[in-house]
Amino acid sequence: MKLWHTRDDLQALQSLRKDGPLVLVPTMGALHEGHLDLVRLGSELGQVVVTVFVNPTQFGPNEDFSSYPRTLESDLELLSKLPVSGVFAPATKEIYGSDLEVTVQPGNRGMGLCGGDRPGHFAGVLTVVAKLFGLTQPDVAIFGRKDAQQCLVIGQMVEDLKMPIQLVDAPTRRETDGLAMSSRNRYLSADQRRQALCLSRALSAGKQSMENGCRSRAEVQQTILDILQDADQVEYAEVRQVPDLGKNEILAGKILLAVAARVGPARLIDNFVLQINDKQVTDSYLLGTGRKS
Ligand code: AMP
Repeated sequence: MKLWHTRDDLQALQSLRKDGPLVLVPTMGALHEGHLDLVRLGSELGQVVVTVFVNPTQFGPNEDFSSYPRTLESDLELLSKLPVSGVFAPATKEIYGSDLEVTVQPGNRGMGLCGGDRPGHFAGVLTVVAKLFGLTQPDVAIFGRKDAQQCLVIGQMVEDLKMPIQLVDAPTRRETDGLAMSSRNRYLSADQRRQALCLSRALSAGKQSMENGCRSRAEVQQTILDILQDADQVEYAEVRQVPDLGKNEILAGKILLAVAARVGPARLIDNFVLQINDKQVTDSYLLGTGRKS
């Protein structure tokens, strides 16, 4: 496994490409099993390159950019045990120049949910992803379904800017009790960790109500919200259509149940992607070539 820090180092990608499709797995480091699942899935599709970069432009002024865990050494240790061809861990100056450079703005899918109360978040995500795509020119890029809106916004960028990259969304990896793995879970005390289970419990209740036949967006949303109140502060509990994130009142087709809440010092998110087929509700995926589980 090679380690690259500079744009010049990425010349090495030319020879990698000869051995098969180049598969990019972008991360901000502080890796856990969820990230490693993305790598495992990627290694089935080609030569995996992982990026580790805590992207300043996607954090709001009151968010945790400066305290975000930076654990490159242990990240490399974890990745070295997997089929990873190389890791690109650039300094900020390799990625950003002046304040006045070009940015990529999200379209309609960036509105509301995680875009609503975090102005500039998805522009920051899209800008850094576009830069990483430009630098590495991958054939395939893998993103976690846990960041569902991010997957959809990136999907729209790739489509609208005609980027010749296949996107894959990988399933959300959970702890055995249902908590979605997140680099931010390490901020939680034991009590807060238990409290954080209200996110996945709320989503399960929403899914259950749909399995019981409820197709009213407002009612499913309320079911989710009732349980999410166990968090310290609810940011949103939403039910949307996939992929356009529309707000149809009668649920049909592919549906995203999405929650965001604060527990102690951590802002946590989680979601379920569900497909309604007649009376059945089944787990689904976001992007054309995603994997269900
Ligand atoms: P991050 O380092 O948090 O920016 O995440 C890097 C990538 O890993 C993103 O595509 C995330 O959606 C994905 N990811 C984060 N947590 C999980 C998880 N629990 N399961 C699957 N993918 C995840």
